[in-house]
Amino acid sequence: MTKAVVYKLEHDKKGKIVALHYYDWNKVSHRVEAETFVLAANAIETPKILFMSADDMFPNGLGNNNDQLGRHLMDHPSNSATFYVDEPIWPGRGPMSPSSIQQLRDGAFRSEHAAFRIDLSNSSRVASVTAAAIKEGLTGKALDDAIRYRASHELSIKNVLEQLPDPNNRVMLSKTKKDALGLPVPSFSYSFDDYVERGMQASLAVYAEMASMLGATDVRYSAPGSYSNNQHITGTLAMGTDPKTSVTDHVGRAWDFSNLYMASTGVMPTVATANSTLTASALSLRTADAILGKI
Ligand SMILES: Cc1cc2nc3c(=O)[nH]c(=O)nc-3n(C[C@H](O)[C@H](O)[C@H](O)COP(=O)(O)OP(=O)(O)OC[C@H]3O[C@@H](n4cnc5c(N)ncnc54)[C@H](O)[C@@H]3O)c2cc1C
Repeated sequence: MTKAVVYKLEHDKKGKIVALHYYDWNKVSHRVEAETFVLAANAIETPKILFMSADDMFPNGLGNNNDQLGRHLMDHPSNSATFYVDEPIWPGRGPMSPSSIQQLRDGAFRSEHAAFRIDLSNSSRVASVTAAAIKEGLTGKALDDAIRYRASHELSIKNVLEQLPDPNNRVMLSKTKKDALGLPVPSFSYSFDDYVERGMQASLAVYAEMASMLGATDVRYSAPGSYSNNQHITGTLAMGTDPKTSVTDHVGRAWDFSNLYMASTGVMPTVATANSTLTASALSLRTADAILGKI
């Protein structure tokens, strides 16, 4: 159903969800009853809906008896390095991410620093190097030569760092800000520790080794000393075997409600170093099998 913003779940006294409430874009509220409910509104909005459903019986939000909902928020902190290699490689043909170095994701070092992978980008450099060369004031043959050399020799590599689940990294409801429908927007507490920073330093050493092997010149870092995000939002609906330390069981069913399931990257209790969507899709298929009684 389009233009429908779910803002509340309604429950009975026996541990079942009985209805959901949504606003249409005119802020008219609608109520929908069902046998089974699947929250699949992303790892930020799903906990938000459950927080907004708080009432006298569940003052901290639904599915939050053990104060785990919205906690352990993770992403993949990241940065990149770009340089010219010593022979033409002409990136821009074929898939965007043709290869990735995965061997750095596991080993005894994980007791010391974050695991990571390194991606090699195959995006075309033509537009960005042309804009830079024009900005530098190059014209005529010098401009032509610069575009040809840089577009064929420039390589960008990127790390993707594992972040550990930390209960203090969390999604909450804003106490002050509301959206256009009058619903609280999410607010966040989020940081990462030295474990990630040490992983970053280890990955920078790998960047340097790669650059050296490729005869690199003009090595540039995306944002020295800072991190980018990767939109791999995980952890806030963590699945597990113990209700005290998780939000859902192993098939994504809320511990406190027998007919409420969650399908999202949020159910992943750790983020590891791989992009999260395929894992979440596989977990969602398992959730569907559980709802259908196949497992
Ligand atoms: C720029 C970008 C690049 C990315 N690249 C990759 C990649 O290369 N590989 C990878 O694995 N992942 C990638 N991701 C992450 C990927 O998009 C997410 O992991 C994935 O979409 C999460 O799936 P989800 O079902 O949990 O949430 P979503 O895909 O966000 O789906 C949630 C749905 O719920 C709806 N919704 C939200 N709130 C409500 C509400 N209150 N009522 C009703 N409906 C609601 C939303 O409209 C949306 O349709 C990328 C993300 C971004 C932003």
